[in-house]
Amino acid sequence: MRSLAYVDVLSPKTLEEALEILDENKGDIRVLAGGTDLILQLRKSTSFNGKLVNIFSLDQLRYIRLEGTNVKIGALTDFHTIAESPIIQKHAPFLADAARWIGSVQILNKASIGGNIVNASPAADSLPALYVLEATLTLQSKAAKRHLPISEFYKGYKKLDLRPNELLVEISFNSVKENQIGMFFKHGLRQGDAISVVNGAVLLEVTPGSHVVRDARIALGAVAPTVVRAKEAEAHLKGKKLDEKTMSEVSELVVTSISPIDDVRGSAVYRAEMCKNYVYMTLWKIAEVLRS
Ligand SMILES: Cc1cc2nc3c(=O)[nH]c(=O)nc-3n(C[C@H](O)[C@H](O)[C@H](O)COP(=O)(O)OP(=O)(O)OC[C@H]3O[C@@H](n4cnc5c(N)ncnc54)[C@H](O)[C@@H]3O)c2cc1C
Repeated sequence: MRSLAYVDVLSPKTLEEALEILDENKGDIRVLAGGTDLILQLRKSTSFNGKLVNIFSLDQLRYIRLEGTNVKIGALTDFHTIAESPIIQKHAPFLADAARWIGSVQILNKASIGGNIVNASPAADSLPALYVLEATLTLQSKAAKRHLPISEFYKGYKKLDLRPNELLVEISFNSVKENQIGMFFKHGLRQGDAISVVNGAVLLEVTPGSHVVRDARIALGAVAPTVVRAKEAEAHLKGKKLDEKTMSEVSELVVTSISPIDDVRGSAVYRAEMCKNYVYMTLWKIAEVLRS
């Protein structure tokens, strides 16, 4: 592991200053937020000789707001704050659940949602929830701001639609409606502080009273180069009641959307099986809530 003691670290006091620094350095600089991913990566890297712009003290990027039915989260907000937020618990409870599962207490308090998104691990725990919420990312440079659906941000394994002079500044999404119910799942090799072997989120909209599924969103992580939506499984759910036959068919169908790999945490075959089982269990739990 390399020492980073001699890396130049620039510490802007405002967002505007940070954007100015990024603009001037034309890609020859890395953004440091909580550092829980980046510092490990840089210490292992033999090629990094650039500078860092440390945005961690930019409190203007730390907030959770409800504006009408739109929830807005500043990119530097840490996962402890997200898990404990009454706004997130009420308007996107499964995102609060996902946040709660991230790392240890130390990681929870340091790791930012923006870092989780830009680090682009397909196993990142906030991503499936943000995919089913169809979250929008706000990317800002010195000259402009643009908004992008989260699914369009990822172009392949760790390939992002993020320009060298841009920061991710905000994540926003519509709050969950009364007839929607969502859940997050995570399978790790141990109970706590574990990177996901598979994870996912399911968000169903049901017809009040009849419990027929009107709309379905299923997002799966750690089973493809990016998080994926299980489109065939979603289509199969629409217009159906959540009975055992449907749940079983849907969980088999998720494999058409995934392309898992073998790695230290599990084989491709194991991941596919876990994915099917967790989707089935999650639908079962949702059906139980609907029945109660
Ligand atoms: C022990 C341990 C356990 C962990 N457990 C989990 C886990 O259970 N689940 C999980 O999902 N993750 C886990 N992680 C990974 C990590 O904590 C998260 O991905 C975290 O959210 C990263 O946020 P950060 O603020 O630390 O980002 P950093 O490490 O500072 O940055 C990560 C990347 O994002 C870029 N970046 C950060 N913020 C911005 C921004 N606003 N705009 C543009 N680029 C930006 C950086 O340049 C870098 O490339 C774990 C890490 C450790 C060390």
